[in-house]
Amino acid sequence: MIEPHSRAEVACVPRYTSPSMSALPSPNWQSLADDVVRYLRDLIRLDTSNPPGNEMLAAEYLARVLHAAGIAPVVIETAPKRGNVIARLRGDGGAAPLLLYSHTDVVPVERERWTVDPFGGEVKDGFVYGRGALDMKGITAMQLAVFLAIAQAMRHDGLTLRRDLILAATADEEADTNQGIGLLVERHPDLLRAEYALSEFGGYSLHIGNRRFYPIQTAEKGNVWMRMIARGRPGHASVPHADNAVVHLSRAVDRLARARLPTRITPTARAFIAGLADGIGGGQGVALRAWLDIEALHEVPLHRLVGDFSLAAELYAVTHDTVVPTVLRAGYKTNVVPSSAEATLDCRTLPGSTPDGLIEALRQTLGDELPVEFRVDSSGEAIEFPFDTPLFRLIERALRQHDPQGVPLPYMMTGATDAKHVARLGAICYGFSPMQFAPGESFFEMVHGHDERVAISALAWGARVLYEVVRDFCAAA
Ligand SMILES: [Zn+2]
Repeated sequence: MIEPHSRAEVACVPRYTSPSMSALPSPNWQSLADDVVRYLRDLIRLDTSNPPGNEMLAAEYLARVLHAAGIAPVVIETAPKRGNVIARLRGDGGAAPLLLYSHTDVVPVERERWTVDPFGGEVKDGFVYGRGALDMKGITAMQLAVFLAIAQAMRHDGLTLRRDLILAATADEEADTNQGIGLLVERHPDLLRAEYALSEFGGYSLHIGNRRFYPIQTAEKGNVWMRMIARGRPGHASVPHADNAVVHLSRAVDRLARARLPTRITPTARAFIAGLADGIGGGQGVALRAWLDIEALHEVPLHRLVGDFSLAAELYAVTHDTVVPTVLRAGYKTNVVPSSAEATLDCRTLPGSTPDGLIEALRQTLGDELPVEFRVDSSGEAIEFPFDTPLFRLIERALRQHDPQGVPLPYMMTGATDAKHVARLGAICYGFSPMQFAPGESFFEMVHGHDERVAISALAWGARVLYEVVRDFCAAA
């Protein structure tokens, strides 16, 4: 039943007929939730802090669990101790595969700031504590449990799939030195090629006002990391002159910090803001709608319209290319005017923007009189996927069914995820790892934080939603 090699290229015309949900098998939901918690606690206890990673610990664990369920995964060590695991359930070839993918590395911890052992997998007051509980071992655990529940239904309850279901748990997302899914996409594309892929970032409930929203990642900003270098005349600091690189750079940084690059609203941002406006309603909703529809309002600072600085910052970021100076380097001795000074710029670009276009816009902002040049050190393209798709509609339907008051929304991630790599396979990637949080708990605030934790109820709710989406999307009619 398990076949490590894809047998069909992704060339199928998307065809979706909704199978009758009642006819399809469901697992015991309590056992599914118990499995997720068990896998998560086991995974947290394996220290895969990146750097150095050591994700082979997680890959070997996952391979053992899959083997115990009669599934033969492929384990790939991309570099010593950097482990990746991929498994596949075979469909009848009626449609192209669905990929569930996650990363098993985590960001390092400041141990002294935690009240529990970050690698203890402790359960306290209904929460699983530990590094990676949210980002993203909780999701690895949920995907694994769903994958095994589908395998179980195929074996014992007559479930047949029209598309393969692929599970991938890979290394090196947090430092992204290309030992994870990026490298697998280059070297083993047939193991991963899929029509659709689900992973982080989205499907988590987010409370704004008194409404619950479910942002689902359908786009991701690009990143351009570069240096802005100012040149000037070197000399003895005892005799001031105007052509000083340190001063040129300071002026340029100040001007960039005040600059507003043009507003551009992509389909994801438009749907996100429109959905927020409708969901929030009232004066704030009307103001957001007006901002969206009336171009003349784009110059009005968003916090004046929505009265909420963090929401305004988020909305600004998803509708603009942004430039943030993060490192300054200049000079080496008090009495020497250096000939150059440089600022590192973290730029995030909207889908459709290019590094060259961004630099041109920055030059226009700075004018001609400041002698600076730009050097791009690295860049990653932005991605955006259609959300008028059968899978997106199914996700919306499942969320509404399990939370009738909730509002699913397309969402643009401002940071980078592994979706950039998976997109190169031609897959439509959504950030969908459903979890329902209580008011006051926020995924976005707890992720990478001290005492990272996830509510068992959030995992239980999410595993059921994810199972139903995967089953209904993959099941043969
Ligand atoms: Zn992550």
